[in-house]
Amino acid sequence: MRLLVTGGAGYIGSVVAAQLVEAGHEVTVLDDLSTGHADAVPEGARFVEGSITEAGDALAGVEAVLHFAARSLVGESVEKPGLYWSHNLGGTLALLEAMHERGVRRIVFSSTAATYGEPERSPIVESDPTRPTNPYGASKLAVDTALTAYAGLRGLGAVSLRYFNVAGAYGRLRERHTVETHLIPNVLKVATGERESVSVFGTDYPTADGTCVRDYIHVSDLARAHLLALDAVTEGQHKIYNLGNGTGFSVQEVISVCREVTGHDIPAVVGPRRAGDPAVLVASSEKIQRELGWKAERASIRDIVADAWDALSGE
Ligand code: UDP
Repeated sequence: MRLLVTGGAGYIGSVVAAQLVEAGHEVTVLDDLSTGHADAVPEGARFVEGSITEAGDALAGVEAVLHFAARSLVGESVEKPGLYWSHNLGGTLALLEAMHERGVRRIVFSSTAATYGEPERSPIVESDPTRPTNPYGASKLAVDTALTAYAGLRGLGAVSLRYFNVAGAYGRLRERHTVETHLIPNVLKVATGERESVSVFGTDYPTADGTCVRDYIHVSDLARAHLLALDAVTEGQHKIYNLGNGTGFSVQEVISVCREVTGHDIPAVVGPRRAGDPAVLVASSEKIQRELGWKAERASIRDIVADAWDALSGE
């Protein structure tokens, strides 16, 4: 298929773009490089530098869009809510209008577990309440709401994938954020000597060891789900799937695995809680397994950390 991948110079978008090219699709990446890297655009994909608010020309001849371009830092979203509403919701609405004008009727959207907010139960299923606790999650949920409306009103076919904690690497493609907030890359940066220690944000949560529990999914498994989602897009319908491994690991457990994988003692310093962190976030991915036949292939936290480490230490 002829596909447009917005945000295809970013971490997840670039891995999906690479897998789409490998599967024989004709891929154009649209990215404004605000947080992405031009060298992450896979070989074999066409690159257009630009904003999703001006996607018009890049949409010519396109059959489906995979939409990743977004602001994605929870903390920043609390400080600059306008940026998140305008980029994530405003930008996506502009993209949907441009798609409508060009007759592009299929989209796979990069949604998030942050749409659920503080969960009432674990693991989270797709029908659970969506009560985001920050503008990032709220802006992504607003896009999901718009997609449901456009599916009903305009016959758009949409699939939203709600990611839990994405980690690992796909070959050389790894997380390369200018401001790194995520746990695994920050822990590994201690092993490379880039940081002296890792901060543990709170040890007084109601979990076995007092640190937060998260569901880590390998970026390669996550990316594969997008190819299945693309096949599952049905005009007039908006389908929503969670994507995680269904198993939680605490911050302390993740740090221990990083110590084992890297052979470095990785000093950890206990600090206060980070605002807005739920104690436990674990996905039920039962729906995507049942309906799309998705299954994690690199589900172990050791594999996830080892691939992230290989990509980082191999540079
Ligand atoms: N975390 C931490 N130290 C760090 C980064 C993250 O203790 O340097 C914790 C964070 O509070 C959360 C978990 O690790 O409980 C995962 O955080 P991350 O930012 O990777 O993902 P999130 O769950 O916020 O999407």
